[in-house]
Amino acid sequence: MRQSQLFTKTLREAPADAVAVSHMLLIRGGFISQLSSGIYSFLPLGFRVLKNIENYIRKELEKIGVFEVSMPILHPAEVWQKTGRWHEIGEELWKIKGRQGEDLVLSMTHEEVIAEMASNFISTYRELPLVLNQFQIKFRDEERPRGGLLRLKEFIMQDAYSFDKSEKDLDETYHKFYEAYLKIFKGLDLNAVPVKALSGIMGGAESHEFMLPAKIGEDKISFCEKCGYAANIETINEKTCSKCGSLLQQQRAIELGHIFKLGVKYSEPFNIYFEDEDGLKKLAVMGSYGIGLDRLIAAIVEVHSDEKGIIWPLVAAPFKIHLVELSGKGNLEVKNESEKIYRDLTAKGVEVLYDDRSDKTAGEKFADADLIGCPVRVVVSNKTLDRQSVEVKKRNEKEAELVPLDKVVASMI
Ligand SMILES: [Zn+2]
Repeated sequence: MRQSQLFTKTLREAPADAVAVSHMLLIRGGFISQLSSGIYSFLPLGFRVLKNIENYIRKELEKIGVFEVSMPILHPAEVWQKTGRWHEIGEELWKIKGRQGEDLVLSMTHEEVIAEMASNFISTYRELPLVLNQFQIKFRDEERPRGGLLRLKEFIMQDAYSFDKSEKDLDETYHKFYEAYLKIFKGLDLNAVPVKALSGIMGGAESHEFMLPAKIGEDKISFCEKCGYAANIETINEKTCSKCGSLLQQQRAIELGHIFKLGVKYSEPFNIYFEDEDGLKKLAVMGSYGIGLDRLIAAIVEVHSDEKGIIWPLVAAPFKIHLVELSGKGNLEVKNESEKIYRDLTAKGVEVLYDDRSDKTAGEKFADADLIGCPVRVVVSNKTLDRQSVEVKKRNEKEAELVPLDKVVASMI
């Protein structure tokens, strides 16, 4: 993609109300744009990050046998009344009215909808386990949205739902998600800590949150520095570690994901019965598993940035390479060589953001490259061409190196 054609521009100033580093950098870098409190658009760079993360999570979940679906975000009130959550949840549940005066809900989560759907299909034990996943918009009527993408009224979630024959089988499915989530966060260079949590409005027996220690986080965890034991602060009373007896430290954290053993809370009202091996009718046992993608993007930026800008992990980066040409007032050799590298890399399928802007100084281009945060910066200038080379610098390293022109493309694939 040519930066000269990118309609967004980087900004020097952050929004006056921004307190979170991720909020400031995502706005300044031209990744997101605010429509209203807690409601954001993804701009071209941000949308690429979102899609990269979505694809990465999809691939990891496909490895544990998950099928993808897409469920509506507009729900009839009846399904929410069936489980009682229509009243239970409170003001965060977004209720609206249709033109006939009928009550509707904007999706906050999809347990009810998937239970309604699954009840039409599950009839025998042979169909279980069944695990369905989606990437879908959610709504939450937040009183105080904050922190850019950290707490929103409208956001995108990966949410998966499992149906098993027994509690024991659910334990297995739950464990698969637990491990897959740890792998996903690790792949995004996030040291998420799984902690036991309360199930809250989801109900059910057991749940874990995946918490990323960060000062801006809204949750608190108790953390043992000695053995790594961690727990949600709502779930424990003790001041010492239950595993090793050391003093527990309190730490702020961002909740990245949450998994639940739901039991039969939803299969009962929706009559999700199946016939087991002995011909007996039983209720399917459910689990649900979610990661908020917007918040995940904010969390990545919170922990992967410096005073100059974002430092994207490779998996999430909007582009792998930021190619910067310094042809100044029209140095043709630099221009032509840059165009050639851009063409060759793009032809090989490498994702390149090409800073071909002619009205920017070298300083401005470097500042933008640091702010946008692609993992590798490649600079073509008079100076580098004198040595038949380009300058290659990783965003997370200080030193640059010269790479010979005839080796540039091969070294980037
Ligand atoms: Zn301990």
